[in-house]
Amino acid sequence: MELPTFGTNKRLTIMSIIRHNWTKEEIIAVYNKPLMDLLYEAASIHRMNHDPNVVQVSTLLSIKTGGCPEDCGYCPQAARYHTGVEGNDLMSVQQVKAQALRAKSSGSSRVCMGAAWRNVKDGPEFDQVLEMVRTINKLDMEVCCTLGMLTENQAQRLAEAGLYAYNHNLDTSEEYYKEVISTRGYEDRLQTIENVRKTNVTVCSGGIIGMGESIEDRAGMLVALASLSPQPESVPINALVAVEGTPLEEEKPVEIWEMIRMVATTRIVMPHTQVRLSAGRTNMSREGQALCFFAGANSIFAGDKLLTTPNPDVNEDMKMFEMLGLNPQKPFTKISQPKTVEAEDSQFESLGEKPRWSRPEHKIERNLVASGKKA
Ligand code: SF4
Repeated sequence: MELPTFGTNKRLTIMSIIRHNWTKEEIIAVYNKPLMDLLYEAASIHRMNHDPNVVQVSTLLSIKTGGCPEDCGYCPQAARYHTGVEGNDLMSVQQVKAQALRAKSSGSSRVCMGAAWRNVKDGPEFDQVLEMVRTINKLDMEVCCTLGMLTENQAQRLAEAGLYAYNHNLDTSEEYYKEVISTRGYEDRLQTIENVRKTNVTVCSGGIIGMGESIEDRAGMLVALASLSPQPESVPINALVAVEGTPLEEEKPVEIWEMIRMVATTRIVMPHTQVRLSAGRTNMSREGQALCFFAGANSIFAGDKLLTTPNPDVNEDMKMFEMLGLNPQKPFTKISQPKTVEAEDSQFESLGEKPRWSRPEHKIERNLVASGKKA
């Protein structure tokens, strides 16, 4: 299909070429452009590479909630913070299948399963997740997992089960990461992404704005993502949902203009990627979201909860789609459906690995206070 374009001049065509050598200064200059110029440029690049009236609806399922040993400053699922999130064990394959079918019938073409784990451990729980992947792939839905750090062998096993995407967010810049998380290192995030890249599973990696970071940090994260080769097929942009009890509970809500600028800049820096307007939509007006779609966002998460934080109701989203003339994206429109190999035919056996992911354990004052380790 020929996509409608406007302003397709030579400069925009050049800007649509994938670049892996963006500098922080260049990205900051893009982010700070006069808004009308930024919107025009991002929307033009978006139209050259995507259908502007198609937005993917994805569903995020928390298959194992709470009790996480990490100290991510934004996360209500970290066991050390007092957030009232009720933890539960890994869901059954049948429960996941029922929720995926419900999501499919309300327009979702992608299911992302999240488990509050530091890293994947070989064993019965991972085998159960592999079975969930097989089950959802057979429902003809794109299946994504976010399970923490994982080894190459684990990535291969997920690929074999029919996984379409693996999510592992960089969250923010390498420098600011140290102000938010002390229990794991940025290099391990990149290593996990590299392990996924060795398979045919697509990469989903993005971040969160509104954690107290600077525009330089936002640009730094985009430099890290854009320099990956290939660039991630999917980049979620989240606005922090400040949850009581977490170290970031007092952060001010992100202004819609910041979100629009971040989405537009992401679109310009990564023209082919699926930019996902993720957490924080409950605080955004329809007008604000419409500008994000115009600027290049082409996915939302549906369902009244995003893991543990509130999200708009799917019926409200469908009304918004109707009002804006948007159509939900069908599954596998970008990359074809992976084949599922049954457990008994697997080429990869569990190695029972015990990888040594790093534990920087530097001190982050606000994390210590929120976890009650400091008055
Ligand atoms: S973001 Fe993930 S790894 Fe970090 S505390 Fe939450 S569940 Fe654990």
